[in-house]
Amino acid sequence: MSDWDALNEFLRTDPRDIGCDLALDALHTYSEMAAAGANPEELFPGLAVHLKSCRACSGDHDALVRAIREFGGDERR
Ligand SMILES: [Zn+2]
Repeated sequence: MSDWDALNEFLRTDPRDIGCDLALDALHTYSEMAAAGANPEELFPGLAVHLKSCRACSGDHDALVRAIREFGGDERR
């Protein structure tokens, strides 16, 4: 039981998580890279961590990627 507590604590307090404010600052660039098929996780590891733990930001990210692909991307598939 205490092992689970420790794991949960660790997952909750990932030091790489940059938080919502910084995530929103970089989210547009991150989403454009994702929509272009690049690897934004390499450039923004803290943001990638945040998106895994924050539903609000990952929802924004998904919507942005979809909008970029639909209206602004250069997808040929
Ligand atoms: Zn967030």
